[in-house]
Amino acid sequence: MENWDGNEGTSAFHMPEWMQIQFADQKQEFNKRPTKIGRRSLSRSISQSSTDSYSSAASYTDSSDDETSPRDKQQKNSKGSSDFCVKNIKQAEFGRREIEIAEQEMPALMALRKRAQGEKPLAGAKIVGCTHITAQTAVLMETLGALGAQCRWAACNIYSTLNEVAAALAESGFPVFAWKGESEDDFWWCIDRCVNVEGWQPNMILDDGGDLTHWIYKKYPNMFKKIKGIVEESVTGVHRLYQLSKAGKLCVPAMNVNDSVTKQKFDNLYCCRESILDGLKRTTDMMFGGKQVVVCGYGEVGKGCCAALKAMGSIVYVTEIDPICALQACMDGFRLVKLNEVIRQVDIVITCTGNKNVVTREHLDRMKNSCIVCNMGHSNTEIDVLYFSLGKWLKQSMLSSALRAALIELQHYQASLRTPELTWERVRSQVDHVIWPDGKRIVLLAEGRLLNLSCSTVPTFVLSITATTQALALIELYNAPEGRYKQDVYLLPKKMDEYVASLHLPTFDAHLTELTDEQAKYLGLNKNGPFKPNYYRY
Ligand code: NAD
Repeated sequence: MENWDGNEGTSAFHMPEWMQIQFADQKQEFNKRPTKIGRRSLSRSISQSSTDSYSSAASYTDSSDDETSPRDKQQKNSKGSSDFCVKNIKQAEFGRREIEIAEQEMPALMALRKRAQGEKPLAGAKIVGCTHITAQTAVLMETLGALGAQCRWAACNIYSTLNEVAAALAESGFPVFAWKGESEDDFWWCIDRCVNVEGWQPNMILDDGGDLTHWIYKKYPNMFKKIKGIVEESVTGVHRLYQLSKAGKLCVPAMNVNDSVTKQKFDNLYCCRESILDGLKRTTDMMFGGKQVVVCGYGEVGKGCCAALKAMGSIVYVTEIDPICALQACMDGFRLVKLNEVIRQVDIVITCTGNKNVVTREHLDRMKNSCIVCNMGHSNTEIDVLYFSLGKWLKQSMLSSALRAALIELQHYQASLRTPELTWERVRSQVDHVIWPDGKRIVLLAEGRLLNLSCSTVPTFVLSITATTQALALIELYNAPEGRYKQDVYLLPKKMDEYVASLHLPTFDAHLTELTDEQAKYLGLNKNGPFKPNYYRY
């Protein structure tokens, strides 16, 4: 793996003029916000917003009784285009409102739009994206569009798409293929519709989880001849890229934005600190005070979850495999345990390891009645709900459908919660009671998929930071001169990270201290950054 330590001299990030930090400007710009609608909107919940100003026939939520698969519908946007597949294009107006609300909390992207207007640093870029499709993603996509890119998009999670937002994007001309509640087959079909298009070939990939990259590798390897780079945002996807790189199979440069400081600290830590409670509350209405919770994994996401639950008065246990993170948990006042030691007594189990089979069927068998089980990690592999890896392989394999069905059936008997003796009862959207023969039930949220993005919203401001990082990484890879990046995985230059943070400071009317010449010399720093060495841990 090569990183910025290795190539700083030749390929460091050159900040174009439009990226220069302009605090005074920005402050003015963002002190003007929000508008009357924006102010009201920011403080209301999604469900409120569904009822307060619209009486149109289209419903805001998914409660429409239209069960037809979007794949079987003929839909057109108002300009006559049918190059999209969303739940209901008629919901576009509601989605537009959500996007407008998100724009209020995404100051950096809005600033990028303004500054890069003349320059269009993404002119000619054809970006295929696979991320959660939310109002915040829409602001990112529309920013990429404003910077000159053409985009086609699918969802990286079958539950997290906001149908209204997907509709709004389709209405404004973005080919979006996503809806909430896709099947596994729909999921790959949507990705394929983004990639496999006559007369259009992507030259950039923006991925969250690596599924899109994997699909192109598997089905359309020749496409990589035209692709200039991959920007990957998740732990899981980045892990896959490093594996490809190690095996010498990575054929384009890739930018690991997951490990940029701003992403790690804000998206993982602060985002999860705020959204874990929201996800649990919306699905279970439970009170947290005094409840016993075990959090598996004390990385950034785990730290955020633990801090929030502790603040609510929960008794929090942590499991870890890494002694450093384990010691951090101890120093932060959490009891470090093995899952087996507390599994019988806890009220809530939360996984956030990025690993697989952390909560096994054996653990699930031993949980007490009404225990809530959920996952905050990227993939649905952490809780042994279904024997996923084999399931996924089988679904994509070339075996006959009968043989595939038989094998899928067979694997259900090996491990998982999908076994004949357990009864599943859907009690709410994304909430299942799994009932044992003796009447014990556990409450499984989002079928083990990541809770906050499946069952609640996440704070727009933290997503603004990630989205800005993604936009800058795309600009950098797309504009990099030949040879700056090899077929390897790169971290974002520190200066870019600092730039992302600086774009968000004006929102807080924050006043950054400038180094004097004397101080800069004393510390051996450039007055404009970078201010820390690459190995610095924030
Ligand atoms: P991280 O690497 O910082 O933390 C994961 C921790 O889990 C590590 O400390 C690791 O030692 C520990 N771990 C691994 N296997 C374990 C096991 N079997 N038992 C106990 N601990 C174990 O990663 P992170 O940034 O905290 O992200 C964790 C997961 O959450 C990833 O899958 C990531 O993609 C996802 N994520 C989710 C959100 C969200 O909004 N829900 C946001 C960011 C990241």
